[in-house]
Amino acid sequence: MRSGTVFDIKELGLYDGDGIRLTVFLKGCPLSCVWCQNPEGQRMLPEVFRHESRCRSCGRCRIPCTHPDCAPYGVCLRACPDRLVGLYGKVYTSDALADEINSYGDFLRYGGVTFSGGEPTLQSAFLREVAEKVPYPKAMETCAAVPEEDFLPLALLMDDLFVDLKIMDEDAHIRYTGQSNRQIFRNIRALDGAGKPYVIRVPLIPGITDSDENQDAIAAFLAGMHSLKRVELLSYNPFTPHKYALIGRAYTAAIADRPSNIRTDLFTARGIDCVALRLRGAAPTR
Ligand code: SF4
Ligand code: SF4
Repeated sequence: MRSGTVFDIKELGLYDGDGIRLTVFLKGCPLSCVWCQNPEGQRMLPEVFRHESRCRSCGRCRIPCTHPDCAPYGVCLRACPDRLVGLYGKVYTSDALADEINSYGDFLRYGGVTFSGGEPTLQSAFLREVAEKVPYPKAMETCAAVPEEDFLPLALLMDDLFVDLKIMDEDAHIRYTGQSNRQIFRNIRALDGAGKPYVIRVPLIPGITDSDENQDAIAAFLAGMHSLKRVELLSYNPFTPHKYALIGRAYTAAIADRPSNIRTDLFTARGIDCVALRLRGAAPTR
């Protein structure tokens, strides 16, 4: 049986599939988008968070701890009386995660479970095992930046699919996400070729992804697709990047201080169903 790492499970999602959703956030992402609102989801392994700004420097958490849950991290995760130190990431077997999801059965009857991240396809084999043990409707949010053998078999198990498409220019994609977009294009074409219905989501980050040229290029790429249900343009929701500080990272994105440029007309002119939504803020909280 396989194991995987999850960094949050949240109830009452409303936008990632039909009805109300239980959202499971898988840890690890092949991209490192400069605007990412869930930086604690980017690294695959569990990582320590610490609220330095509220720390009273009592030193309790720094006393050497040999408990197996704490020893790998060089800090005691249970000592802080104010719970200012903890871990992003919990390792589950596929049975344990499926059992936890299925324990929300009453709730899941009114919607289903959505796998998000980070990037769920990075733990594809684990998640396929989980999905086969969950009898409720399943959806997945994905950046699709993984090999097709990790992407397609998992995608085909889902009832609803939300695929991000951020930037069409390859150099700009590398600059702002750290990776080429060519595998993403291949996976979207493979999905379309398999006849699997999907939604494309475009995060409109001011000054980065929301130019007329980028939206027009995305519309042109999607114009010939047969299984595309609709495009959702997600306007940017400014956020407080405190989670970067919690994991000892700096937030350096230079995002234009203006609302997103929303061009649904560029898509509808090509016969593509297109709606504008607000990009949700940082979902998991600690
Ligand atoms: S794909 Fe999503 S989770 Fe991954 S780095 Fe980009 S915004 Fe963050
Ligand atoms: S136990 Fe809590 S208050 Fe004390 S040093 Fe550690 S984080 Fe700070």
